[in-house]
Amino acid sequence: MARYTDSVCRLCRREGVKLFLKAERCETAKCAIEKRAYLPGQHGQGRKKFSEYGVQLREKQKVKRYYGVLEKQFRIYFAAADRKKGVTGENLLQNLELRMDNVVYRMGLGSSRSAARQLIRHNHFTVNGKRVNIPSYVMKQGDVIAPDQRKIGKAPIKSALERIKNKTLPHWLSFDLESKQGIVQSLPTREDVAIPVEEQLIVELYSR
Ligand code: SF4
Repeated sequence: MARYTDSVCRLCRREGVKLFLKAERCETAKCAIEKRAYLPGQHGQGRKKFSEYGVQLREKQKVKRYYGVLEKQFRIYFAAADRKKGVTGENLLQNLELRMDNVVYRMGLGSSRSAARQLIRHNHFTVNGKRVNIPSYVMKQGDVIAPDQRKIGKAPIKSALERIKNKTLPHWLSFDLESKQGIVQSLPTREDVAIPVEEQLIVELYSR
């Protein structure tokens, strides 16, 4: 599978927003967007204008990179969103929010989406009591996510449980530190998507 191996901070600078790809560093003054708020590359400070297609493309790339999804997979998400009742752009964002790696990250169980993906792949979580190791697994309302019993004493889960103590969760998620279980309380709505995005531009891009 294709994998991006360059600096992830370049991706944020390219899109002009914080994509929160580097865990704690993203909240500090070391964040590359704070230090160099212009496009990456030799001519980054000179380039400013995009064509209509360019603007649509950037919105799509922004969302793809934010959720860590590759092009082929992103098109599958779009096709599913288009088939679903309702507004295609909003369906797309909701489906992406419900990815298991995003839910693990949003609950604070992973320090970033990529860290969450790694923990999931390494069998650190169960969903409704069954081990799930697929980061793209789609969570549903009422699903219960919990660290696998055998991993609870391990460093990544220990530090995640510490992190959750100080974390404010989005209203559609909850986590009980006593039972060490999180629940998808409701489906995320458009307002629950934290990244600034004009999803209609993505719909226009794929409708060309
Ligand atoms: Fe993006 Fe985080 Fe790097 Fe800042 S520190 S540029 S938010 S990945």
